Amino acid sequence: MAPRLRYKSDVRLADGIRRLGFRKWYERELLKSHAHLTLTFLCTVGLLGAFEAASQFRGLQDQMTNAAAIVGSGAIGVWALRRYLYLLMHAESVANQADCPQCGAYARFKLVEGRAEGAGVAVCCRDCTHQWSIAD
Ligand SMILES: [Zn+2]
Repeated sequence: MAPRLRYKSDVRLADGIRRLGFRKWYERELLKSHAHLTLTFLCTVGLLGAFEAASQFRGLQDQMTNAAAIVGSGAIGVWALRRYLYLLMHAESVANQADCPQCGAYARFKLVEGRAEGAGVAVCCRDCTHQWSIAD
């Protein structure tokens, strides 16, 4: 299994569902991912502006400052794009497993407490009480 990115700000799936419920957790993950997409867009604008300004600067200090702006915008933009894709794919991956395999109810489940994490998050359908695991 490929290692996944882990960030301190990540709310682990089980904790997020326990605290917010699945629908709110999913909504927040999508909002967070799209906030990172907005940051990627802003970094792109900053990068284009810095490249355009590069031809205007003659002094070494101005050129160095501009180079730092290019490197900074590029690095933050790449990080934000990776974070956007990770958050979006993770949320979609979980949402694709939110259908009850038995009755087909979407996102109508609660956590089954006390099961070891790592093998997925155990959930139980609110409608038919069927249990299944959602891979995190
Ligand atoms: Zn069900």
